[in-house]
Amino acid sequence: MPENKKPVRPKEDEEREIEYLVCRLCETPCYVFEMDRGHLLEATCMMCGNEDILLFRMTEEEDV
Ligand SMILES: [Zn+2]
Repeated sequence: MPENKKPVRPKEDEEREIEYLVCRLCETPCYVFEMDRGHLLEATCMMCGNEDILLFRMTEEEDV
């Protein structure tokens, strides 16, 4: 019974990872950050040294 092959479907909604953040201070894309289940834990802007996660925004498509 070779029927152990289930198609693996990634959960796009639950475990979607963003590619980068944008620093609010200098508007620079930031790739140095740590996330856990969609929550931003740590981030560091290499341009201005900003380390306040509140001063980063995610790059999801939103209607502002
Ligand atoms: Zn910055």
